[in-house]
Amino acid sequence: MSETKQLVPPIDMDLEKKPALTPCSSESSLEGSTKTNSIVLQKALECQAALNKFPRTKLAHLPTPLEYCPRLTEALGGVNIYVKRDDCTGLGTGGNKARKLEWLMGEAKKQGADYVMTQGATQSNHARQTAAAAAKLGMKCHILLEDRTGSKDIDYTENGNVLLDDLFGATREKRGAGLNMNEELEAVADEYRAKGHNVYTIVGGGSNEVGALGYVNCVYEMIQQFDEEDLDIDYICHATGSSGTQAGLVTGLAAAESDIKLLGFGVRAPKENQEEMVYSLAERTAIKIGKEGVVKRDDVVADSSYVGPGYGIPAESTIEAIRMFAELEGLLLDPVYSGKGAAGLIDYCRTGKFKKGDNVVFLHTGGNAALHGYLKAFK
Ligand SMILES: *Cc1c(COP(=O)(O)O)cnc(C)c1O
Repeated sequence: MSETKQLVPPIDMDLEKKPALTPCSSESSLEGSTKTNSIVLQKALECQAALNKFPRTKLAHLPTPLEYCPRLTEALGGVNIYVKRDDCTGLGTGGNKARKLEWLMGEAKKQGADYVMTQGATQSNHARQTAAAAAKLGMKCHILLEDRTGSKDIDYTENGNVLLDDLFGATREKRGAGLNMNEELEAVADEYRAKGHNVYTIVGGGSNEVGALGYVNCVYEMIQQFDEEDLDIDYICHATGSSGTQAGLVTGLAAAESDIKLLGFGVRAPKENQEEMVYSLAERTAIKIGKEGVVKRDDVVADSSYVGPGYGIPAESTIEAIRMFAELEGLLLDPVYSGKGAAGLIDYCRTGKFKKGDNVVFLHTGGNAALHGYLKAFK
């Protein structure tokens, strides 16, 4: 399945305030930079075509918009902020898991599954989007929810994503924290298989080399958008958790020989563990797309400085980021992932790690359905 061509930017985009094409570094001439971009674009299109051999089912609204954020740009000292709106993927209120699920559910359908099963934290966006995908495709869905935060707040345990899991017709069961959840999942799946079901299991976050294809493909979608908008992007940053998003992105960028720098802001694991997890999945993803060895360890950069008190517990900087994006741009982040990623982005602008004039894409991975599980965090 090929992507439809990117539409003309929406007319209400503030074109006047949009910065002109800025070369990545001062040494590179405009001409040189354009030439490099066309090679990268060519490679991206070739890589994208090569993905066609894997089963895929259409679930997401693609391409998602790329929007310039003039008010955030101004508030953050002139670092040009663009938001890639993967919160607008459409499936079950949207978010990054829709892209992974196109390939995962494609495989499930091909295998003739009648049940899809997955696992996640109580307020898992991945579980919610899997439930929506199963509903759309006429499959049954069962999910295991791990209580990682210990919260007894009914908003957290029953509202937000949990309410939506139920509305999409999924069944669910709970687990305490600290178990090997993928093993728990396989054990439950085996019980269903013993009863005659054809069960397709999806690892936490949909983060294996099949799901990661969704973000390999996202790179090529973005490269086409950058080309059409004449943008020289310096950085792409985003929240990184179970690692499939970053692994797909880093693999896609390496395969297209792009020099855009990628940065993941961790939401759970310490930097070293997060990077190892991403690198390991990126290596497997590269093999899957026939580009073994294309990703270098140094390409994988995660910063886990914005996790705060722990997974699923917002830090002060998380709440500040959520309020800032909402008040300045009408964008909704979430307290578990995108709010922490945005807190990293904001801090990198304030501390000069991103500089005035840099072109930075914040990949908005979604998650705002979880906001309703966190009422008390905003009081
Ligand atoms: C799952 C998720 C992420 C992290 O993506 P991974 O592929 O798990 O690293 C980021 N943001 C949101 C909203 C998510 O639901």
